[in-house]
Amino acid sequence: MNMALADAGRAMRARARMVERLRSQGVKDEKVLAAMMQVPRHQFVQEGLAYGAYDDTALPIGFQQTISQPFVVARMIEILRNGRELGRTLEVGAGCGYQAAVLSFVATEVYAVERIRPLLDRARENLRTLRRPNVRLKHADGNLGLPEAAPFDTIIVAAAAPTVPQALKDQLAPGGRLMIPVGTADQRLVLVERHGATFRESRLEAVRFVPLLTGTE
Ligand code: SAH
Repeated sequence: MNMALADAGRAMRARARMVERLRSQGVKDEKVLAAMMQVPRHQFVQEGLAYGAYDDTALPIGFQQTISQPFVVARMIEILRNGRELGRTLEVGAGCGYQAAVLSFVATEVYAVERIRPLLDRARENLRTLRRPNVRLKHADGNLGLPEAAPFDTIIVAAAAPTVPQALKDQLAPGGRLMIPVGTADQRLVLVERHGATFRESRLEAVRFVPLLTGTE
């Protein structure tokens, strides 16, 4: 067997172990677990860190940002799905593109915005080999959502905000759901569900995310 194939086999086994760990941590949604099995997470982290890509940790991706922990990615998507389809989905904070790749196997359409241009370029590069036809990346400040593609059935935010940005609520479709870490020192996942003109907010588990910043760079 040549080296590349041996490495692919090793990566696949590491991924299968990661999925088993996610199950033992309580993730039950088979569609989410299948998506986590599909995406080669090691291709999204810096080369020197690839050996730890399938551990349950956040890893640096440069520019003081991190790729989210596998459990948090799986859990957030599982809660958002809650047995239904994600539909048209906006991700705020594409980072290295990993979560966008996972979402592309679960949602019909994925729009992912990132405020740091070189990170967005890296996400584009990382996603290229996967050839996902339903992912679009955009350099933008996600506090403003993505008005030209709104409304969204699902919005998932990968950075912590002091409060839920109004533009994101406004861009939810009827019945749409938004998941966002809220807080500074103490953060919690907040789920916002839109029912007509009313929004229902539930506070969920404690988390630790990089901050949602404003503007682009
Ligand atoms: N989902 C990413 C995790 C990246 S960490 C992954 O799978 O790798 C969070 C990302 O949010 C960072 O890349 C950061 O630059 C970005 N971010 C922070 N504030 C933002 C904003 N206002 N708009 C868009 N992206 C933002």
